[in-house]
Amino acid sequence: MSIKSIIRLSEDVINRIAAGEVIQRPANAVKEMLENCLDAGSTNVSIILQEGGLKYLQIQDNGSGIPKEDMDIVCERFTTSKLKKFEDLTNISTYGFRGEALASISHVAHITIVSKTSDSLCAFKGTYSDGKLKESLKPCAGNVGTQIIVEDLFYNVPTRRLILKNATEEYQKIVDVVTRYAIHNPNVGFLVKKQNETNPDLKTQSGSSRLDNIALLFGSSIAKEILSFEHEDKKLSFKLAGCATNANYSSKKRAFILFINHRSVESTDLRKAVESVYNAYLPKGSYPFVYISLEISPQNIDVNVHPTKSEVHFMYESEIFDCVQRQLDSCLLGSNTSRTFYTQT
Ligand code: ADP
Ligand code: MG
Repeated sequence: MSIKSIIRLSEDVINRIAAGEVIQRPANAVKEMLENCLDAGSTNVSIILQEGGLKYLQIQDNGSGIPKEDMDIVCERFTTSKLKKFEDLTNISTYGFRGEALASISHVAHITIVSKTSDSLCAFKGTYSDGKLKESLKPCAGNVGTQIIVEDLFYNVPTRRLILKNATEEYQKIVDVVTRYAIHNPNVGFLVKKQNETNPDLKTQSGSSRLDNIALLFGSSIAKEILSFEHEDKKLSFKLAGCATNANYSSKKRAFILFINHRSVESTDLRKAVESVYNAYLPKGSYPFVYISLEISPQNIDVNVHPTKSEVHFMYESEIFDCVQRQLDSCLLGSNTSRTFYTQT
């Protein structure tokens, strides 16, 4: 074999590789942008898609908007309005912090942003590629808030396009992400639809209750059998809240929604711990509906372990899992009929 010399990768290649880690599929892009909408205080977020977001992905919010002077650098890597120094990471309460999402998307797609703040007379529109504003901002009409359009995702990553050719699957993954956020944020109204259809596939009203949204998105048969729980542990400084179906309900489909510090995350370990509690109550091979929101003191959690931020590491994991199991178990024990169970210690 011939000896290959080491070469320095070009900036462009580096950025595209990094972008591929953060944005693996349209649903990751939606999650990042949705979190930006929520960080901006939006009460309505609507998402319109073509080809499962691969061709066209529009997300519109009624949040604070992006100030004109920030519109120039908004898609550059490591530009954020949310984090200033490394220590801030231990105290982060917004979803975003690395200033990486929009930059990443701009390296693998074409972005157009129209945004208006309340103190600006008009909106401004910019188009972006590879982190940079392509031409100067244009004033235009628009409501307060932000609209971001992402077109031709992965146009320059042919292998990724080949893997993601099932638009229906990508669309479903986006609906799943938005469903989770709609359960966690019932105060915010969400809408997801395909561009050429009139009827949305998901629509919630702003100012709904969590139970309203569970009934709407998962069915009233689930909503009827829901138990709620709440617990605070001052010593280990975490809070736990959630709701789950009682022993009257079971489904062949898994429905496990987990938020840690208001971010939708995956945890196979916690899901298994929860399912093991239900083993005593449900027929084999069937599952409950469970929604859990954990708030863990930022000092005890490391959100920065995974490029998509879908995994987090935290201290006292087994104590916290035990606590979730105890809460669920006492709920289930105390309810052979449908009613709400409330605990606080
Ligand atoms: P991060 O969220 O980590 O700061 P992003 O790349 O997701 O990085 O966003 C960069 C910046 O763009 C944010 O810090 C925020 O100031 C601004 N921004 C992005 N989306 C919105 C939005 N929908 N509304 C208001 N500001 C936004
Ligand atoms: Mg962000």
